[in-house]
Amino acid sequence: MKPVRLYCAELNDLDEPPPWVVVVRTLSPFPQLLLSVVLVSALLIWSPIRLLPAEWRHHLPGWLPTALAFAGFVPAGLLNHRIAYYVEIRLNPGDFRYDRVMALAKQFNVDVKGVVELRDGSASAFARPDDRVAFTRGLLRCLEPSEVEAAMVHELAHIAKRHPKKMALSVIRHAALLIGIWFGGRWFIETHFAVGRALHFFLHSPIILLVFVPYIRRRVSRRQIDVSECEADKMAVDYVGNAEAYIHVLTKTIDYNRAYFQISTEGGTPSPSPTFERRIAAIRAYAEASAVAGAAENGSDGNCG
Ligand SMILES: [Zn+2]
Repeated sequence: MKPVRLYCAELNDLDEPPPWVVVVRTLSPFPQLLLSVVLVSALLIWSPIRLLPAEWRHHLPGWLPTALAFAGFVPAGLLNHRIAYYVEIRLNPGDFRYDRVMALAKQFNVDVKGVVELRDGSASAFARPDDRVAFTRGLLRCLEPSEVEAAMVHELAHIAKRHPKKMALSVIRHAALLIGIWFGGRWFIETHFAVGRALHFFLHSPIILLVFVPYIRRRVSRRQIDVSECEADKMAVDYVGNAEAYIHVLTKTIDYNRAYFQISTEGGTPSPSPTFERRIAAIRAYAEASAVAGAAENGSDGNCG
């Protein structure tokens, strides 16, 4: 089997995704897109209701604007689905890349539901809550076949550890908590203070949730991402058998994306993100711990915090 030739043969046939898909993917990754569509539709739906004569408005149930705001998820979901239709290609048995990923899944005893190729020129791979692994065409262009497979092992580890499902649940939990705080806080303020028209509008508009977005991002993302990346990196390092070679794969992908998105590196290489630096440090710590454990014939492995 000659993986190199097969990957390259596919690469020569690459066509770029339609420009609007690239623009949407670059400007707003799906969660942000979804959130903004919900909030914008909430505001759009909100205002006309407030314009109705007071005696009409009186007959409308109080929960209606909120319900309509959340109905914004429907168009957002349809748009998301439409984009996915253009971007996604589900690979089938017999496709070389599908078979390779499935063979790796078998080797690591991971129950993976499918393999998705994305018509996207940037280099990335991810594991999805539906237990499919996805990679972009840009990743195939950026990495050597053996390096693509290291990236796939990393994504398989995410599925084995149920990270995408846990992350999705965590986002839902935090969103539910925030909505609870929103309703509870509003009730408290309105029963204890005289609320003017502007404050009333603000308190009832879902735009108030935007205030909490940075909080959610910090709470949900940072620690959870650090731990899950560390766990997935461990399996990939074990597969590659060399921490520095694996770190090279990660660095190469970041450099490729900088060039792809034309992020300027003039005036010196921009420093890697703190997240990436913590990740590299964790990979080296794990490699050192396993080298020590290997010498001592001891089952100790690095700690993901
Ligand atoms: Zn990962």
